[in-house]
Amino acid sequence: MGNLNKKTVENLDVKGKKVLVRCDFNVKMENGVITSDKRIVAALPTIKYLIENGAKVILCSHLGRPKGEFNPEFSMKPVAECLAGYLGQEVKLAADVVGESAQALAAELKDGEVMLLENVRFEAGETKNCPELSKKFASLAELFVSDAFGTVHRAHASTAGVAAYLPSAVGFLIQKELEVMGGALENPVRPLVAVLGGAKVSDKIGVIENLIEKCDTIIIGGGMAYTFFKALGNEVGTSICENDKLDLARELMAKARAKGVNFLLPVDNVIGKEYKCDTPFMRIYSDSIPDGWMGLDIGKTTQELFAKSIQGAGTVIWNGPMGVSEWENFAAGTTAVAQAIADSGSISIIGGGDSAAAIKKLGFADKMTHISTGGGASLEFLEGKELPGIACISEK
Ligand code: AMP
Repeated sequence: MGNLNKKTVENLDVKGKKVLVRCDFNVKMENGVITSDKRIVAALPTIKYLIENGAKVILCSHLGRPKGEFNPEFSMKPVAECLAGYLGQEVKLAADVVGESAQALAAELKDGEVMLLENVRFEAGETKNCPELSKKFASLAELFVSDAFGTVHRAHASTAGVAAYLPSAVGFLIQKELEVMGGALENPVRPLVAVLGGAKVSDKIGVIENLIEKCDTIIIGGGMAYTFFKALGNEVGTSICENDKLDLARELMAKARAKGVNFLLPVDNVIGKEYKCDTPFMRIYSDSIPDGWMGLDIGKTTQELFAKSIQGAGTVIWNGPMGVSEWENFAAGTTAVAQAIADSGSISIIGGGDSAAAIKKLGFADKMTHISTGGGASLEFLEGKELPGIACISEK
């Protein structure tokens, strides 16, 4: 139950204290302009709570991939401006990460005021989780709050290292991820159904292995279904298929069988001639793909089969599209799964990335219980891995 019992920001006495908060402000930018500020919006509950409770708020984040040195292209300036608009108060931007400017601003900060450090990846020690840098972060503040779920799977100085030197807690954003995803894994409303898709089995082995232990049904779609097809002795034509993972696919299916887990694969497929959006395509009522064709989406009968399972679920966890959903001709399977989850009335948890994008594009976002803010982090969480930015926070 470790993850569900972590100290939260509400367990800290923040009044009059300098609180360093690691946020995920890694927003999408084009030519210096923020094109999606949803990560800033997601960070607001913790920031507002700290302001309202009289903390001196010191925010930090990475933005893009600067190479360990100052680069104005990756400055946090646009984030500071956007954040100031949402908070209706000034956000003071330090000219450096942990240098003289950051120290001076932090020392002058008054209760309820907010400052933002420059991009933490301007410091080479950040991604190396350098203890010297962690100590410098810690020297700016009296308390630390970990709230950057999108980077919580990385052991960096500002995500994990700093927690060794300050009393620490998770913020509201991470708390919600832990409650919903942790709750679904540890004590789910059953039946627990996992819908897994995407390109490759190799990216999701850990997730499948962990979920076999916990789920009642595992539904496999997308490109990774074809490795399972081949492992069962079927032809897969030119479909994406990992020949070095056939034994593993057989082991996973045997394990599911032994545990009494329903393991559903597509029974019909939409196949195309080439990996192109306008390639000729057709539906085949088979789990064998003819020579010279590739499976690019699940078929109509499979959509209905998967939807039936989803509709009977108490909890659904979805990660990965059912086909090449970027292309209209091969998006129907992913849309059908999204629709089934939206209609199911179950507790619905959407891992980040393509499935979250599909849900939002279809306008179903507000019908989901939870859309994770972290793609890689949510996958590692579903694998049952310990995430450094959460593991570093002590229990209540
Ligand atoms: P992932 O990042 O592993 O969730 O994979 C997402 C990608 O898988 C998307 O870009 C899809 O286009 C791709 N994908 C899904 N189904 C297939 C398929 N049948 N063949 C090739 N690529 C696929």
